[in-house]
Amino acid sequence: MGANCSIDVTLKDFRLMDLQQLTSRIPRRISRLAELSNNLWWSWNLPARELFESIDARLWRTSGHNPVRLLAEVEIKRLDSLAVDQEFLVKYDRAIGEFDSIIKDGNTWVSRNFQGVFKKPIAYFSMEFAVHNSLPMYAGGLGVLAGDICKEASDLGLPFVGVGFMYPEGYFHQRISDEGWQIEHYRQLDFDLAPVSKVTMPDGSQFIMSLSLGDKTVFITAWEVKVGRSILYLLDTNLPENAPGDRELSARLYSAGKDIRLQQEYILGIGGVRLLRLLGIDPAAWHCNEGHTSFLLVELLREHLLAGETFEKAVDKVRAATIFTTHTPVPAGHDTFDESMIERYFCCFWESLALDRERFMSLGQASPGEPFNMTALGMNLSKNINAVSKIHGEVSRRMWQRLYPQTPESAVPINHVTNGIHVPTWLTPGMSKLFEKSFGAEWYQRRHDISFRKAVEAIPDEALWQVHQDRKQRLAHYIREQARQEWGGIDVSSRRLVALGAMLDPEVLTVGFVRRFVEYKRPTLLFKDIERLKTIVRNWQRPVQFIFAGKSHPADYMAKELIHRVYGQATDREFEGRICFIEDYDLHLARYLVSGVDVWLNNPRRLLEASGTSGMKASINGVPNASILDGWWHEGFNGRNGWAIGGTFKPEDPNAEDIQDASELYGLLEEQIIPMFYERDTADIPRRWLKICKEAIASTLFSFSASRMMMEYAEMMYVPIAQSAATVAIQSE
Ligand SMILES: *Cc1c(COP(=O)(O)O)cnc(C)c1O
Repeated sequence: MGANCSIDVTLKDFRLMDLQQLTSRIPRRISRLAELSNNLWWSWNLPARELFESIDARLWRTSGHNPVRLLAEVEIKRLDSLAVDQEFLVKYDRAIGEFDSIIKDGNTWVSRNFQGVFKKPIAYFSMEFAVHNSLPMYAGGLGVLAGDICKEASDLGLPFVGVGFMYPEGYFHQRISDEGWQIEHYRQLDFDLAPVSKVTMPDGSQFIMSLSLGDKTVFITAWEVKVGRSILYLLDTNLPENAPGDRELSARLYSAGKDIRLQQEYILGIGGVRLLRLLGIDPAAWHCNEGHTSFLLVELLREHLLAGETFEKAVDKVRAATIFTTHTPVPAGHDTFDESMIERYFCCFWESLALDRERFMSLGQASPGEPFNMTALGMNLSKNINAVSKIHGEVSRRMWQRLYPQTPESAVPINHVTNGIHVPTWLTPGMSKLFEKSFGAEWYQRRHDISFRKAVEAIPDEALWQVHQDRKQRLAHYIREQARQEWGGIDVSSRRLVALGAMLDPEVLTVGFVRRFVEYKRPTLLFKDIERLKTIVRNWQRPVQFIFAGKSHPADYMAKELIHRVYGQATDREFEGRICFIEDYDLHLARYLVSGVDVWLNNPRRLLEASGTSGMKASINGVPNASILDGWWHEGFNGRNGWAIGGTFKPEDPNAEDIQDASELYGLLEEQIIPMFYERDTADIPRRWLKICKEAIASTLFSFSASRMMMEYAEMMYVPIAQSAATVAIQSE
């Protein structure tokens, strides 16, 4: 106890650092390019993207589509000439005009439907956010979802702040060695060229707060990222005030042992709430994205206890204002910590609140003595709990029934909101333009009341096929250019080039298996019967090629074996170069892959895929799914928009499940997918195939969008919480 337990921040005022430096390079007529580059809104606005590209197409590509970097590196001469280029100025004025109208526009879904309800923002906490490739703060689906949620909240006009971590080294970049093993390497983020601003104090110095963490004090700074109207705050401990080990606390995502993980989660939850308080932000509701963030609930509990509430009343108040979303049907995927570890960082916490150890521990336990479970903590302190698909809801109620011993499984209070994707981020420009032509320029504004089926049927087959062929070409180009760069390296083997996809043929039916490599997703299921697969692949009249990509967690050796196996197959001459593994799957590569293959393959072990979102990205781009009926596909498959691999029955024996599913998959390829893809009319158009592509678009464009998802979160949870908070405020006046 003692000084360590005080709340130790003094700062009240702050302002954000301005963009002076970048702006000073740019002629006045077009100087707002700097501001535009610093709000990631540009990344989902086509005119803004095209504007940046037109400044310097080559730099745009080499910068990894990072406009901050582009503006910092482009020659001043070029900027000067653009400032008097009429064509450029028209584009500039249009993009800036749209930016202003979006940022300031009061006419949104929220303002039309819930006028006056949201006087305060929703706070959304997540360990990772994938907003854009220039901020590599994510490992996979959880982060992509969080990023898409921030963008959609902005589009809908929902006041929203995200809280997460700034990882200067982010998640790792992946290379595959000649022998087929994953090699991880980390790159330091160049903060000056990232779309982030320091949160600063009035005198321009850096915002810093201190936080007691067990028996030490850690200093924390924060970065701000603008995501349309939403704001994302990222916490960072890399400060000279900190001990070297503590500076590293926020260095990397999911790389370290449990002790570091616990400290990270402490900083995110407790530090995150305090950060918002210091910035004067008083959220209407608090949303926990997965158990990593649950300590924020403990901090809220502390606030109520300090305000004089009884323990029971304080718990009720926290529960009433919070939402907890669980994502993991795999028991090992839930963070747990031994009591001794919790004790180390929280003992002064509970002592200062006059809580006893048992009471505190029980918040994260179903029964005394078991490890402290972050999901249990989230569920105990939230009244609104949801899983991320219908079937995941069922699995979660079964899994967590032990927290509700008096309640029958079907009544366990876990609901579901099926995940969705942010359509403007994931719809490729070609498809987006096609939709504008067919559905009208304002279709996205009217997305919740369009009958997409009719609108999609009206798209000419030729036009749709053309756009898709273009995406395939782009993907092939991307892969070939990667291989070309390899070839320029030292001592690269031709085997390696083939494995990296140098021999892919954009005319051939292409199936993508692209996802995190982890055992339950069964990345090697396709190779269960190699001879049968070889016959399928090598059919000279109707060949098939397979593209694999995905990272495995650095400590998951089983998953690394799976990459090794796939890479081995890619180098097998008998597959004739038609199987490849593309390195370093990330948001950027994902945009190529989800639109550039012909079929999106997903074959997880049943009941273990909570939702999956990459299949939705493919589907809205007219790429049908062939998938096990798990996660979102259990709801999404309608018999006409793709293929189901097997049924919903789950055999007891995993090997039996593998054999059965592999055989179903081969059968689908041989009897349905391949014949239909190669069935062409005289104009070389696969009419029957395109019917499936169109149905894929129509059945997912709204139903599996982040719009539908966020409208559900708003209607089911955010609005009732905001309204009841308002009622309480009136009663107590
Ligand atoms: C969409 C996406 C994911 C999540 O895809 P799943 O279908 O859930 O596996 C993971 N990583 C990246 C880079 C993505 O874009």
